[in-house]
Parts: sequence; structure tokens; C-alpha cells
Amino acid sequence: MRILLFGPPGVGKGTQADLLSKKYNFIKFSMGDILRETVSKKRSSNIEEIERFLKRGELVPDEIVFDLVENFLIKNRNSNILFDGFPRNLNQAHILNKSLVHLGLSLELALELHLDEEEIIKRLINRRSCPKCGRIYNFITDPPKSNGVCDQCNIELVKRADDDEQIIRKRLHVYEKQTRALVDYYKSSSIYCQVDASGMQNEVFENISKIIDAYTNKR
Ligand code: AMP
Repeated sequence: MRILLFGPPGVGKGTQADLLSKKYNFIKFSMGDILRETVSKKRSSNIEEIERFLKRGELVPDEIVFDLVENFLIKNRNSNILFDGFPRNLNQAHILNKSLVHLGLSLELALELHLDEEEIIKRLINRRSCPKCGRIYNFITDPPKSNGVCDQCNIELVKRADDDEQIIRKRLHVYEKQTRALVDYYKSSSIYCQVDASGMQNEVFENISKIIDAYTNKR
């Protein structure tokens, strides 16, 4: 099964993607994580270009992200896949569709997480993650047990460079301009569902699980 989670930055896609991957045995494809890792591990000849886009909160050019997707799909064609943050514009959605069809596959659900803009900004400013295990915390909604350190690894949590108010507003603008068009695109193929992301992590997780279970029971 292949599903897509999309929505503005800060709605909890990454957290839900981790929970869903564990429950349904999805391999997670997170374009943001892959790009950040590509930069930190210097895995591409385009590092400086990628870094520039990440810092500005703008989408990295399609040609760069397509290479990363293509390699991933070929390697994982027989697995359950959860796409987190890819596609992010209509061109990427078309290319993903083409690549899947080429491999005899399809996208089965496209779930949009929805949240009020001011709540998004509040969440992102208070978001931190563990540099070792990757767990995401939020100082307001999901704080670590001890001040500023990871519950499991006991090391200091870090803030993402692009979780700065000015860059957050830019990323929200990019979402409105480029990514929101995916709603109509996936509605037209009847795989779209909107999920309210304003509740507690577990509530949102249960709601998404219900949608996935209803879909798999119907198949
Ligand atoms: P995220 O971790 O999903 O919030 O993404 C962080 C940043 O990675 C975005 O602001 C973009 O600069 C870049 N990025 C993530 N996904 C994509 C994508 N599908 N296409 C282009 N750039 C992306």
C-alpha cells in the first residue's frame, strides 16, 4: 500500500508518519529528512544549492528531488510506502504518478492534515527534535520529561534552522502557492481525505488509522 501525508509545515506530518510507519509497516519517504541528511552528510554535488533553498524555506528544484525519489522507488517497489512531504507541487504529483505507473503501482490514499495558521506558527516555534534518535517534541503540546533533553537519549534537543518565524511564514506562503493545488488534484482521483490536525497526537493518529483501516477493509 502507498499513501501520502501532506499539509502545511507544522501540522504534525513527521510525527504521524513515524507512528503510522510503526503500526502499518510503512517505509517512510520524507523528502525534508532526506534533503537535510543529504546536506549534513554531504551526499550530493548540489549541497550548496540544496542548502540555499532549505534556508530560505523554498522548494528545492524538482530535478534534484526527482533523482532522490526515483532511486527510492526502485529500491522499495515491493514495500508499503508512506510519502511525507512529497509531492509538494503539481509537477511533482504528475511525476510521482508516472513513476508509480511505470512500476505497476499506484497511490491509494492522499491525506491532508489541516490546522489553523496561527496554531501552526505556535507549534513550529516550540518544536525541537533529538539529533540522535530523531524524536520530535513540542515544548507546549509534547514536552520532554526533563528540561530540553531527549527522554531516551538524554542529549540536548535541537531546533531546526528553518523553524524561525520569518522562514515559517515563507514556508506557509509556499504551501498556499504551490502545494494546496494537490487537494483538487487528488480529489479528482477520489483518493483525497482531509484530517483535522488540531487534536492531541493520539486523536489525530486514531483518526488517520480509521481512514486507513476503512480503506483496507473495502479493498
Ligand atoms: P519539511 O521537513 O517537510 O518541513 O521540509 C523542509 C524543507 O525541505 C522545505 O521547506 C523545502 O525547502 C524542502 N523540501 C521538502 N520536501 C520538498 C519537496 N517535495 N520538493 C522540494 N523541496 C522540498
